[in-house]
Amino acid sequence: MKNISILGSTGSIGVSTLKVVDAFSGEFRVIGLSAHSNIDLLIKQCIKYKPKIVTIVDETHYQTLKNALPHEIEVCAGTGGLNEVAAHPDNDLTIAAIVGSAGLYPTIEAIECGIDIGLANKEILVMAGSIITKLAKKNNVSLLPVDSEHNALFQCLNGEDKKSVRRLMLTASGGPFLNLPAEDFNKITVAQALEHPKWSMGKKISIDSATMMNKGLEVIEAHWLFSVPVDDISVIVHPESIIHSMVEFVDGSYLAQMNVPDMVFPIQHVLFHPERRQSPLFREIDFCSVGSLNFQKPDINKFPCLELAYEAVRIGHTMPAVLNAANEETVMLFLNDAIKFVDIPCIISGVMDQHKILLNPNIEELKQADVWARQAVNEHYTKMV
Ligand code: NDP
Ligand code: MG
Repeated sequence: MKNISILGSTGSIGVSTLKVVDAFSGEFRVIGLSAHSNIDLLIKQCIKYKPKIVTIVDETHYQTLKNALPHEIEVCAGTGGLNEVAAHPDNDLTIAAIVGSAGLYPTIEAIECGIDIGLANKEILVMAGSIITKLAKKNNVSLLPVDSEHNALFQCLNGEDKKSVRRLMLTASGGPFLNLPAEDFNKITVAQALEHPKWSMGKKISIDSATMMNKGLEVIEAHWLFSVPVDDISVIVHPESIIHSMVEFVDGSYLAQMNVPDMVFPIQHVLFHPERRQSPLFREIDFCSVGSLNFQKPDINKFPCLELAYEAVRIGHTMPAVLNAANEETVMLFLNDAIKFVDIPCIISGVMDQHKILLNPNIEELKQADVWARQAVNEHYTKMV
């Protein structure tokens, strides 16, 4: 039996992870769960999975959670409680499925305790990829990619010599606005941007997919996970989302990984790694009804966020953390209907231009860059209104 904890158990990835746990009765023991404020779902999950420890970050819900649960479950609150869940001594694997930079410290805590990570929370690698990957190596910790593209690459690279890899090719669905003419981007609403054609996900990543910042963050994520130079990582739009990514090898061969677009497949792969198990969740790809697989170049004019991410990682140091924090803030402003969809890349680019880079930052300095970028976004916003 494998012992797992889930940071962000009430989110889209958290719920899909528990779906895999349900499908394999007796294979997994849930040690810890956490949420930010979705107390109702967290209580339901605790009653069903009887974890040893649970954390609610929003402390106003602490008493309600405590009162609802049996005494055997240790109840924590606040950000400190996330560290307790992440690094519980019984954990074999911690699934990092918090959205945004809030997942950074608990994930570091788990790595420092030598616990393997199932990584969905890509923002923390964007922010601090150099530090996290070094720390994982030092503590002999595996960073197992949950993100479908990275899980695909991980499978394609299995057993391959790194020297034989010519290029990583990340596929992108193109999001809801792939075929929307550039002149109509001005009128995009929040509801339209949340309507992803292929995946059902949390709000932040849905907006990132609509701007294609998600693919930019994934380029940075792939750079750190597989130690491949960023200029050897390319993005190709593949609207059917059947191929989840590809590896181009020096001998002219390509390997691609495919499954029905549902996160339970990469999650199951991570949960059982290094085994491949027969799945009760198995779904066949009906290739004949898919008919054809299409590919096209991403349109940088319509999706400038993709290029901003390349720019940030080429500059390096504090810039990717600034890109990430500026993106988190502008996405939040857009979700609150405070700015337009087209303002997102403009504000991020303005903040990146203003940033004074700090070389070789440590975690505290990256956190300061993150805080600075959020303030800078809000200054841009104040000038706009
Ligand atoms: P959701 O918004 O659905 O869930 C986020 C989870 O994190 C929830 O449990 C939420 O709690 C919790 N949370 C939110 N803010 C905080 C905070 N400040 N501190 C602690 N916990 C917090 O996101 P997703 O599941 O969609 O995405 C999670 C991560 O996985 C992201 O990094 C995303 O990019 C990545 N990912 C997601 C995919 C998907 O299909 N959804 C695919 C590939 C990667 P509460 O419910 O209480 O708000
Ligand atoms: Mg992805």
